[in-house]
Amino acid sequence: MEPYLITNGYKTIINIKDCFMKEGPVRLAEFENEDYNHFLSSIETPIRSDAFAIDDDLKIELIEKKFKEIMEVLGLDLTDDSLKDTPRRVAKMYVKETFSGLNPQNKPSVTLFDNKYKYNEMLVERNVSVYSLCEHHFVPIIGKAHIAYFSSGKVVGLSKINRMVQYFSKRPQVQERLTVQIANELKSMLQTEDVAVIIDADHLCVASRGVQDVNSSTVSSSYHGKFLNHNVREEFLRYIYDGKK
Ligand SMILES: [Zn+2]
Repeated sequence: MEPYLITNGYKTIINIKDCFMKEGPVRLAEFENEDYNHFLSSIETPIRSDAFAIDDDLKIELIEKKFKEIMEVLGLDLTDDSLKDTPRRVAKMYVKETFSGLNPQNKPSVTLFDNKYKYNEMLVERNVSVYSLCEHHFVPIIGKAHIAYFSSGKVVGLSKINRMVQYFSKRPQVQERLTVQIANELKSMLQTEDVAVIIDADHLCVASRGVQDVNSSTVSSSYHGKFLNHNVREEFLRYIYDGKK
């Protein structure tokens, strides 16, 4: 297990481990830092079985109350015009947008089409926007996902891939889990093992606080099927990283 250093300034050490799971090998990163210890416990988002026992409206109401308390504890004056609606605004944003990917009902529906053009080469979709939140600090993870697959005879509209990335991003996340969740979903959605996902992202919990490293980014990957082959993987990486400004 070689420490894998991705840094331009401060030291952010990422140990990439090969981890064999039922779906095949995936690479997991473990972050180590003095005050920053990101740990991935499971590929599934840890969610309670009663997570949706209450509906969105009630969740918004409850979060509004709790968030108001946080602001009050911080000493903020909730009678101020600019602040008075913030608890409601945050609550709605959490339930309807930022964390909407927790609810399986919000998972995009996908229609498969026959691969009529008999396109048998690698299909790459790069620079898919990723906006997520680090589950350890609840601050943004901002980055790009690069996706590739070989058609098994079925294809999807490309925007569905973006939507699926968004769905899994809209949860409290750990980048490695997000990467593997997207890869697993694409495998079942596209009915093929031949899927690769790379995420290259900035973590604001590293950039804006703690070690305050604005230069490091974190790269995670999940390769399956044909992408376990070195040459295939290299071709994918060339599409992504060559010709980059
Ligand atoms: Zn964090």
